[in-house]
Parts: sequence; structure tokens; C-alpha cells
Amino acid sequence: MLAELGQRFPKLRLVDKREDRFSQLLDRLVRIGTLGGNSVYLTRYVTTLGQTIYLPTGWAQRSDEERVVVMRHEVVHLQQFRRYGKLGMAFLYLFPLLPIGLALGRARLEWEAYAETFRATADVFGLEAARDPALRAHVVAQFVGPAYGYMWPFRRQVERWIDVELARLTES
Ligand SMILES: [Zn+2]
Repeated sequence: MLAELGQRFPKLRLVDKREDRFSQLLDRLVRIGTLGGNSVYLTRYVTTLGQTIYLPTGWAQRSDEERVVVMRHEVVHLQQFRRYGKLGMAFLYLFPLLPIGLALGRARLEWEAYAETFRATADVFGLEAARDPALRAHVVAQFVGPAYGYMWPFRRQVERWIDVELARLTES
């Protein structure tokens, strides 16, 4: 998969967050921006910026299947960076409508990627895994909780996005 990705994104780089000063700076900003709500930026979250994918500690210990699912989510972000450019992405990520609490731009970018998370989960682990209430709860929490700065705190709307995507998966 990485070889194929390297062909589609020739400047693709994988960086270990723990050994990267820029990631450590972002970790501090994320902690401040979420008032300590997200303190696991370095240890849990994979982050894509431009054509660089920053990997959290413990990445190597995850199963191949789990890593494929996460990478398919990140590929959506690679495509978004190609589509909008770094400045466009920074703008969409931070400004419409507010940086924290009502970040529609960020929510749309993340929703496009989380829809791929559901598709990838179905492909790798089966449809039942994609329908697992634990996955749904995890994804809803990403939108309504501190992980991405409470980007879209409308639980029922996020639930509806998930319903539509799962219905699409069931049909195909
Ligand atoms: Zn994402």
C-alpha cells in the first residue's frame, strides 16, 4: 500500500511525531486550544499536513489491518491538500465558522475522511465491524468532543451522516 501511495503522492513522507519538533509544538497548541481536552495528539492521532503523514507513538504496534484503515482515512486528507493547497486547507480547517465549537470547514474535511474510515473498515474487517456501535460512538465523539476542538457539536447531525454512509455500504 505504501509503495502504491508513493506513486500517487511522490513527495509523501512518514514522520514519527515523537521525534519531530513541529509535532511537539502542535501538541502544545492542541492542548491549549482544547483546554487540555485533547492530550493524546502525540500518542493516538495520525496527522496529515501537505504530503507528510505524522505517526503517533505505538503506530508500529498496531495491526496491519488497523493501519490500512487509518491510512485510507489519511489518503483522503492527502487528496484534500492536493485539491485545496496548504493555505486553502489551513483556511478551511480554522475559519468557517469558528476555530473552536463551530468549525464547519474542519467538520466537512473530517467527515469526508471518516466516511472513508467506514468504507475501509467494511472492506478490511467486514460490514458488521463498520456497523459496530463502538466505531459509531468513537466517530461521533471526534466531532462533538475535544479531540478536534468540539468541531461540530450537533450529535444528531453527525449520527445522520453516519446513517447515510452505512446505508450506502449496505446497498453496495
Ligand atoms: Zn482526519
